Amino acid sequence: MNKSGVLVVFSGPSGSGKGTVLAEYFKAHPEAAFSVSATTRAPRPGEVDGVNYHFVTRERFEEMIRAGEVLEHTQYNGNYYGSPAGPIRQELAAGRDVVLEIEVEGAMQVRQRFPEAVLIFVAPPSYRELEARLTGRGTESPEQIAGRLAAARREMAMAPRYDYLLVNDRVEDAARRLGEIIAAAKCAPGRQQEFLRQFDEENTEK
Ligand code: ADP
Ligand code: 5GP
Repeated sequence: MNKSGVLVVFSGPSGSGKGTVLAEYFKAHPEAAFSVSATTRAPRPGEVDGVNYHFVTRERFEEMIRAGEVLEHTQYNGNYYGSPAGPIRQELAAGRDVVLEIEVEGAMQVRQRFPEAVLIFVAPPSYRELEARLTGRGTESPEQIAGRLAAARREMAMAPRYDYLLVNDRVEDAARRLGEIIAAAKCAPGRQQEFLRQFDEENTEK
């Protein structure tokens, strides 16, 4: 049966552990696809074009918007970010699940365009733990950490707009629950219309 994959949107405050949980999830699900976003921000040390992001100019990004080449997009800290539509549609059509790690505004655009998408919000177990993780990661200055903590308070208020709230307590547990959420989504009757149609046909033949 030729079933479309599940479109998964993964959001959450910086430092909540999105990248860590996804890495654990993809270890167990190498068949799933991660959507590489396009952005106009500069690469950070170690980031590779085409792997972490497609790094593009503002002109190119605005052309992508005009041509309808992004499924959703937003501006964040003065830079564009968006999810290239072509690869996402191809992966879904091939039956592969696709994960978009994007912020809230983009997530709501995906919901409008793909009502069947599964929206998951990742939260740290506590605000205190979030601060500890951001400090432990060591990639931001104390000022940047303070900014991210303030942003986290605002972002957490968006959690009720998602389908699922995934508390990242232990990485392995969170990654397992993510797999369970995606597996459950595949059981929705709306995703099994081909099965229902074939079942119906078989009955009427007799
Ligand atoms: P995000 O992608 O949401 O910004 P990261 O995946 O970079 O977050 O995680 C932030 C920091 O917290 C990293 O140093 C990571 O190793 C750590 N971390 C992530 N998940 C957990 C967890 N469940 N328990 C303890 N530390 C974690
Ligand atoms: P960063 O610059 O730290 O990599 O990402 C900044 C924010 O942009 C994060 O919240 C990240 O999830 C979000 N982001 C990354 N790619 C996309 C995208 O394609 N679309 C949207 N809407 N947000 C994105």
